[in-house]
Amino acid sequence: MSRPQDATPQDTGEFGLIAWIREQAEPGARQSKHVAFGIGDDCAGLRFTPGREVLVTTDMLMDGRHFLTSVHTLEQIGRKAMGVNISDIAAMAGVPVAAVVSVALPRFLGKRTAMELARGLERGLDAVAADYGVALVGGDTNAWDGPLVISVTVLGETTERGPVRRSGAKPGDVIFVTGRLGGSLDSGRHLEPRPRILEAQQLHQRVPLRSMIDLSDGLAGDLGHILEESGGLGAVLEAGAVPVHNDAVRMARTSGRTPLDHALHDGEDFELCFTVAQDDAIRLQAQPPAGVTLYRVGTIKAEPGLRIRHEDGRMNAIPTKGFDHLRVSEPGAEL
Ligand code: ADP
Ligand code: MG
Repeated sequence: MSRPQDATPQDTGEFGLIAWIREQAEPGARQSKHVAFGIGDDCAGLRFTPGREVLVTTDMLMDGRHFLTSVHTLEQIGRKAMGVNISDIAAMAGVPVAAVVSVALPRFLGKRTAMELARGLERGLDAVAADYGVALVGGDTNAWDGPLVISVTVLGETTERGPVRRSGAKPGDVIFVTGRLGGSLDSGRHLEPRPRILEAQQLHQRVPLRSMIDLSDGLAGDLGHILEESGGLGAVLEAGAVPVHNDAVRMARTSGRTPLDHALHDGEDFELCFTVAQDDAIRLQAQPPAGVTLYRVGTIKAEPGLRIRHEDGRMNAIPTKGFDHLRVSEPGAEL
């Protein structure tokens, strides 16, 4: 099916743009068994599998906070906006189905018009949606003299195994992560999330996952959410087992922080962190699903608080506070 990527909108107005977006999105929507009708009416019509839960997630990205239009391409921004939402569906071990996109476009950004910005964004959004079988079924298009803001909502559904919540961790559970962590901001990796949709489903198929979260705020902060939602539990991480990304090693050369500190606190890795019962951890490690990388990083404890055990046996408490948009002292950008 040809996607008219290089076609220009016939009409330069909002309706020309929407017609163009519709042309891009229609092949994907037609292929989806979940879409009765997509762009072009007052609402989209979706069909979900009877008996499954419908998953809904939304994330808004703002210029200067989550991306920089002065540095990043519109296609990258579109990819990130779609990717972070699909990653939330992965965190529930769900199947992503459809997306709606709302944009506040600056009327001009330097020499670029709102129309050009929208087309760039759309390419990124579409590419990631197509990769994950997500149909773009609607949105809202606005232009103003303010900065670029983009909000994506993704709808999905649970598999027959049900959702994996943050709240199911139990003392004694083994904690795993699915990839190397840290340094994604400096390297630009945060712009290209690769949501672990298939990995989550395969893992949940193999053994019951008790709790799960996607790593957007950093392992310490996000594991902190699992501990809190699971009734105020604690955890011990093994310092030598935390998989440190090369990007974290590189960043540590100039940041004055250790690579481990970056791996624990940086965020925007979009890997999964999950817990399973001890027997299941053994089963999983003996036979990990094909193509899934697993790092066993620690254990859930009944005693509250997050601690880290260093290789020499020393134990430290580590703060679980991730980025807080409403904290008055929060400096600069979350970039
Ligand atoms: P309404 O005024 O009824 O909300 P709109 O004129 O805003 O309708 O939108 C017309 C159609 O185009 C709707 O189906 C809407 O979902 C879709 N749409 C508008 N903007 C976008 C966008 N940026 N991406 C995808 N679909 C969009
Ligand atoms: Mg309407």
